Amino acid sequence: MNIAILSRDAKLYSTKRLKQAGEDRGHKVEVIDHMKCVLFIEKKNPMVLYNGKRLDYFDAIIPRIGASVTFYGAAVVRQFEMMKVFTAVESQALIRSRDKLRSLQILSRAGLGLPKTIFMDYSRDTEGVIEAVGGAPVVIKLLEGTQGLGVVLAESKKVAKSVIEAFHGIHARIIVQEFIKEAKGADIRAFVVNGEVVGAMRRQAKEGEFRSNLHRGGSAKVVKLDRHEKHAAIIAAKKMGLGVAGVDMLPSARGPLILEVNSSPGLEGIEGATKIDIAGKIYQFIEKNAKKNKIQKDKV
Ligand code: ADP
Ligand code: GLU
Repeated sequence: MNIAILSRDAKLYSTKRLKQAGEDRGHKVEVIDHMKCVLFIEKKNPMVLYNGKRLDYFDAIIPRIGASVTFYGAAVVRQFEMMKVFTAVESQALIRSRDKLRSLQILSRAGLGLPKTIFMDYSRDTEGVIEAVGGAPVVIKLLEGTQGLGVVLAESKKVAKSVIEAFHGIHARIIVQEFIKEAKGADIRAFVVNGEVVGAMRRQAKEGEFRSNLHRGGSAKVVKLDRHEKHAAIIAAKKMGLGVAGVDMLPSARGPLILEVNSSPGLEGIEGATKIDIAGKIYQFIEKNAKKNKIQKDKV
């Protein structure tokens, strides 16, 4: 098959790994920088141009769109969808996953466990908000944050109040969340492909840090999920509409609490910790579905 990885940087670990894994399975894989794609829109003939070349020969795409370019990246993915190319991550699901608040609302409606979370207009009563999530300590998160940046643990009510007021003062949108102490600086990343958990790891924050992100110095170990965790991960990916998803959860006394669902989950940490060929699982998913897609295309 002809497969494109949409990535801005061919040297990134996950991009390189996906390219190699696809070639090992006999596919022709190209890394395409979505920011250099030009979208050509006309009656019944959607096309993507890349360095003057028409990209009309791909059977499938694997989007690896960074959070800072979601809008344009999703437009490129949508264009390929219009050209009936199979995508491992659909444009709608990509956009949905990048809106933390909307994601939490969707997961909440699905009946999944979540940390108590509050979102408010800038002017609201700060003390009431802190009380509503159970009082300090609370976690305050910038809605546009990623990789643990913009996530603050406010240990006292006084600190929480001034942090919330400071963010609001610069008109930054935030959510205020109960702090899940039992997690003890650990979270679980479940990697879901096509409705199945294909690997899971437990990430532990480094000493003196509550954020377990690998980018914040956390370390990862393979973990076996219990049935509640497995169920939560699968339902979360499904409700978000993601064929490929990294579901982050905090273990707690009341079961797994979902933090977020990532639509471009990294491969390095999870493959290193689990020794599972996660890239291969993504290709199996594509091989199964892109063929179907091709038959449909021929029929039309
Ligand atoms: P990001 O999207 O920037 O990674 P997260 O919401 O996933 O932000 O938070 C980063 C890390 O901070 C999590 O992996 C977890 O270890 C820790 N954390 C986040 N929210 C809470 C919380 N409510 N209680 C305890 N720890 C949390
Ligand atoms: N981009 C990585 C991912 O989504 C972040 C990993 C991390 O810092 O925990 O998997």
